[in-house]
Amino acid sequence: MFQYKIFYSPLFREHRPEGYHPENPNRLDYAINGLKEASLWKEELVEEPSDVSVEEILTIHESRYVERIRNLSSGFSYLDPDTYVSPGTWEAAQRALGAAKEAVNAAVKRKGLYLALVRPPGHHAGKSGRAFSAPTLGFCIFNNSAFATHTLKELTGEALVIDFDAHHGNGTQEIFWNDPDVVHIDIHERDIYPWSGYPHDVGGKGAEGSKVNIPMPHYSGDDDYILAWNRIVLPILKEKRPGIVVVSAGFDGFTGEMLTTLRLTERFFMHAGASLSKYSLAMIFEGGYTVGLMRGLPAFVRGYLTGEGWREPSEPSYDAIKTVENVLEIQREWWRL
Ligand SMILES: [Zn+2]
Repeated sequence: MFQYKIFYSPLFREHRPEGYHPENPNRLDYAINGLKEASLWKEELVEEPSDVSVEEILTIHESRYVERIRNLSSGFSYLDPDTYVSPGTWEAAQRALGAAKEAVNAAVKRKGLYLALVRPPGHHAGKSGRAFSAPTLGFCIFNNSAFATHTLKELTGEALVIDFDAHHGNGTQEIFWNDPDVVHIDIHERDIYPWSGYPHDVGGKGAEGSKVNIPMPHYSGDDDYILAWNRIVLPILKEKRPGIVVVSAGFDGFTGEMLTTLRLTERFFMHAGASLSKYSLAMIFEGGYTVGLMRGLPAFVRGYLTGEGWREPSEPSYDAIKTVENVLEIQREWWRL
């Protein structure tokens, strides 16, 4: 049996909106209840993480941005039309980075699945806030997945991160854009927020091929995603043999989640989990707001822990096949695909 642990703090609830906002503390209840129903949440599995220092935050974010978040956390305000800061944001965001770091440290020590069940989310946060052409920070404050990736690179010299949140992980990509030692594979719905992550975006000068973007068609379902996963993600993992993988894990592509048109179900998430059971995972929580957390999150964990749920795609759409072929053609310059 693999080691399985959850890094979680009640402080993650203290970042909270005034009035309705999809990114709110109830998300943690959806996630915890979903895990409980699948017998994947037990008190003895849960560990309270420590905070990171400000110097550590500065390894991924610029000091002006970090100070701005700290100062704004004295009250309630909006950084942009999507993203709020509240009293408690600073403490939650700082401890979320601690959870991401501890998930990586644990994954390096012993093979298993280490879930950093954190808020606020992070993958849209770039070095100084908004990343690339994004209009907003998309509910994110500090980039937990990037910090996990940075921590892993410090420990082992290189890192690989897979982001399957329905939206492109533009912040993570911006932070490591010129770093050839960080492989970032990102599968997401195309042509939605944050309007980046196209197949030709392969990394900056000297880092070409280290960034792999798979922008899936609107309305993609399990077979479409499994096709892309089996044809692109898994062969790169096989070639790279990373040992430890950072997973930027969002469940907002689950059918019924409303923020996107994707129609993923337990089938994809269980397959994804099962296919990664060779590796030790630092799994960093990103998006997912309701049903995806109740059903997609436990399916992924169960897939990883049991190794069951592996599938071949049976009926991918023509558009998904074309998308995968396009990415393969571009990435063959750097990978054996
Ligand atoms: Zn998302």
